[in-house]
Amino acid sequence: MFSLHGTGIGGGIVVGRAVVLESRLIDVPRYRILPEQRAAELGRLDRAIDTVRLELADLGEQLPADAPPEAQALLQIHAMMLDDPTLVEQTRLAVESHGQNAEWAFFAQVEHLAAQFEQFEDAYLRERGRDLTQVADRVLKALAGSGRRLPERPKPGDVPLVFIAHDVAPADMLHLKQAGGFALDLGGTASHTAILARSMNVPAVVGLNTGSLLVRDDDWVVLDGDAGVLMVAPDEIVLEEYRHRMLMGLLERKQLERLVHVPTATVDRVAIELHANIELPAEAEQALEAGADGVGLFRTEFMFMNRDERPGEDEQYEAYAAAVIAMRGRPVTIRTIDIGADKPLRIDDETYDPVAAAANPALGQRAIRYSLAEPDMFLEQLRAIHRAAEHGPVRLLIPMLVHGHEVEQSLRLIAQAREQVFERTGRVAPEVPVGGMIEVPAAALTAGMFARRLDFLSIGTNDLIQYTLAIDRTDHAVASLYDPFHPAVLQLVSQTIRAAARAGKPVSVCGEMAGDLEATRLLIGMGLRSFSMHPASLLRVKREILRCDAARLRTRVSRLLGSDDPVKVQAGLKRLREN
Ligand code: PEP
Ligand code: MG
Repeated sequence: MFSLHGTGIGGGIVVGRAVVLESRLIDVPRYRILPEQRAAELGRLDRAIDTVRLELADLGEQLPADAPPEAQALLQIHAMMLDDPTLVEQTRLAVESHGQNAEWAFFAQVEHLAAQFEQFEDAYLRERGRDLTQVADRVLKALAGSGRRLPERPKPGDVPLVFIAHDVAPADMLHLKQAGGFALDLGGTASHTAILARSMNVPAVVGLNTGSLLVRDDDWVVLDGDAGVLMVAPDEIVLEEYRHRMLMGLLERKQLERLVHVPTATVDRVAIELHANIELPAEAEQALEAGADGVGLFRTEFMFMNRDERPGEDEQYEAYAAAVIAMRGRPVTIRTIDIGADKPLRIDDETYDPVAAAANPALGQRAIRYSLAEPDMFLEQLRAIHRAAEHGPVRLLIPMLVHGHEVEQSLRLIAQAREQVFERTGRVAPEVPVGGMIEVPAAALTAGMFARRLDFLSIGTNDLIQYTLAIDRTDHAVASLYDPFHPAVLQLVSQTIRAAARAGKPVSVCGEMAGDLEATRLLIGMGLRSFSMHPASLLRVKREILRCDAARLRTRVSRLLGSDDPVKVQAGLKRLREN
């Protein structure tokens, strides 16, 4: 047995047989075409393109009724690429004027265009280069007279098929839905294939590099889409263990799906809001599927990272507006960039990034400190957020506040950005509620001041734990000391919730603690009524909330918070979770 590691797209676990799909056609024939044969060669090219057009139209018609809406759109994108003049006309020219055979002329033009897509900083545009090569493979196969090798759809009860490939065209993903999962050499989280996988809930791992060369057809495999692991030819005992986990996972998922439309409330009818954390606008879809009440945290900094130029106002506006539109009237909380510490702008270029060079970046110019030091950049983001707010309810969230003057400065710039939107567009942008993240002990201890000046608070427990316990959240050497249930952390969280309540302002937890089942009862007992977490955790937390009695928990948790002894607190928490 051996294991391959990539990026998990989610979807749980599948145990099945590998189907290794043929990899990209690399042996493209190359020969000269005599002038008198060139018209016939052009005819061969046209027929191949027509064949692929029909193939795509057929696939579109055969789409199952429950296929995700993206599938039809992707087929259309592929069909449109066949009409692209730079692709087809340049290929025709190479056949007519230079006597190249159709395969080679077409292949050379595709490689040229794909290289241009590769240059884009934008991950979305780079992925469109992959769409192009996928369409090109179909044309090259049509020219070679061969069809695409895809196994028959399995019948119910068959052993699941796990597709292993260098790359898979989104259209072929529809077979994967029947099959059970897929593992790909290529791909990032923004690839169409990954987007489809997410919306289909198929276990999937991408970015395995050369994985497809190491797996043989019919090998037993275990694919864990959450952990991002593909185990190849595991022992019988491992297979049994994972079959059991797969079954449990499927049963649980079925049960959880029934909760999507159930209102979230405790046994004693206290309503709770469950929001989703997202890093990309496309993830809003996953949030909706999990029944989220809104987006509680949109981490916008991911859009700024690992590129030479920061995204401009329009690019940002489009991304924020996409999330707002996707959430169909539910609020979207857009956090201004949290650059710095473990999220430098570029990991490979220290000179580009002033924060990466700081002696202790976690205590340096990160988050709001960074934004206030770069007012033009901050204003640009604030304008984009206000423009996006025209499409639906938006809330603005400021990360890592410590000082009152940071609130004042931020509010001034927010007002200025709104005025600038009016000056530039002639439209009055909606006023957006402004909230602050409480993720430093100093902010938690003075939470009342932030609650009074702002419209809402959001507790970032990931950083709050790091700064309270002096544990770098990324340092493996001290990972065992990173304790969300340390009495000091609990007191700071509880104190912040109470301060917000006193000021009459909503408060939420958006750190990992919100999605941690071990913390659900505790947080309800502290008086928390709004959680924001990764969409994959949402339904499990909802199930736990449906079993809670808020009034009873309040008494039990206040007793527990009276203790400063970590051992006693741990014991109290265990009892809280057990009954
Ligand atoms: C947090 O610190 O808890 C938080 C939600 O922010 P991030 O994880 O992005 O630092
Ligand atoms: Mg944080």
